[in-house]
Amino acid sequence: MPEGDTIYRAAQTLHRALSGRVVVRFESVFPALMKVQYDAPLTGRTIEQVTSAGKHLLMRFSGGHTLRTHMRMNGSWHIYRPGERWKRPHHDMRIIVATSEFEAVGFNIPVAEFVKGDALRRHRELSRLGPDLLGEAFDEAEAIRRLRARTDMAIAHALLDQRVLAGIGNVYKCEVLFACGVNPLSKVGELSEPQLARLVSTARRFLRANVSPGLAPMTTFSGFRRTTGRDDPRERLWVYGRGRLPCRRCGTTIQVLKQGADARLTYWCPRCQRGA
Ligand SMILES: [Zn+2]
Repeated sequence: MPEGDTIYRAAQTLHRALSGRVVVRFESVFPALMKVQYDAPLTGRTIEQVTSAGKHLLMRFSGGHTLRTHMRMNGSWHIYRPGERWKRPHHDMRIIVATSEFEAVGFNIPVAEFVKGDALRRHRELSRLGPDLLGEAFDEAEAIRRLRARTDMAIAHALLDQRVLAGIGNVYKCEVLFACGVNPLSKVGELSEPQLARLVSTARRFLRANVSPGLAPMTTFSGFRRTTGRDDPRERLWVYGRGRLPCRRCGTTIQVLKQGADARLTYWCPRCQRGA
């Protein structure tokens, strides 16, 4: 499941490959996107910029259209050379943006729309996003304020709320709570100001560390296996995906609990995370 760092890296990669280039082909299985292509063709326009906002990916074209995509659980963007064999089946294709050098293919993307010019700033979802953990101008005080306002919410839930902090997903949620020694079931109102501040700064540190080049995706635990370059998340993370395994810090068995209506799994150490 892509989190903010994944989307940020995808945006950077797409930006490097596509920006300043002219679209030679645009295809999509989404009728609403093809209607725009039909009415005001993307073909012939320049891709000006690709950025991320939380977990949204924004591809801006000359002439004022921005393609907003959201990956949810399974979506991804790939980049291929023209004619290169795709790593995913054709029927998973949702969007193709091709230049003469590269072909960006969106697979299994569930949310995609064109937003015109100024409407982007007023966009219902984008305008409500909390401070972007990977944004250059991250407003920490505002993030803490928004977090504190969720008084009665379990902290594990509040951290996933994109209107509080943009970019965090289930894996980082677990890792940040562990790193800060906070019980995932604690209510926000039970946490002190320094605890909230530490959760926010840790979330930012983890996400930022994972967008620096050359690192295996999503690493918070930099222990003995760091240099193996293995992709198994259980070898790179403190608690996520490590149910029934011993805690890396104290040896206590890592617990898993289902939280909330969408039953997101929370991995945690009942000893290291005793504190409210
Ligand atoms: Zn522990």
